[in-house]
Amino acid sequence: MSDELTIFQKIIAGEIPGKIEYEDEHCAVLHDINPQAPIHMLVVPKKVIPRLDQSSDDDTELLGHLLQIAHTMAARCGDGEGFRIVINNGRKAGETVPHLHIHVLANRAMHWPPG
Ligand code: 5GP
Repeated sequence: MSDELTIFQKIIAGEIPGKIEYEDEHCAVLHDINPQAPIHMLVVPKKVIPRLDQSSDDDTELLGHLLQIAHTMAARCGDGEGFRIVINNGRKAGETVPHLHIHVLANRAMHWPPG
């Protein structure tokens, strides 16, 4: 793995600007720079796991925590009418930042199937 910080680590460290909605010892929640819904946040673990399929059994508790934070943030910032969470795993699935993150999208109607 590269020694260079990921873009999300740089935001969490305050090295580059970003709107941090929430932070605890395990994760941070950032507002996406290119929002795809009126509410679009990213739940980012402080531990750098490049993508979900590179997580291990040791990460089970952390992954559960990220999901708990995702719905808590949807309740805090959303309109209470529903939300969607997304994890893009791999380039073909739309992953562009190799640091695991959960997208939390809310405050608009969502379509299915997703694009
Ligand atoms: P992915 O495509 O990997 O699932 O999601 C990466 C997300 O990170 C994208 O929605 C993209 O808009 C967001 N993103 C990329 N660079 C930055 C940045 O510098 N700041 C913030 N807040 N979000 C970013």
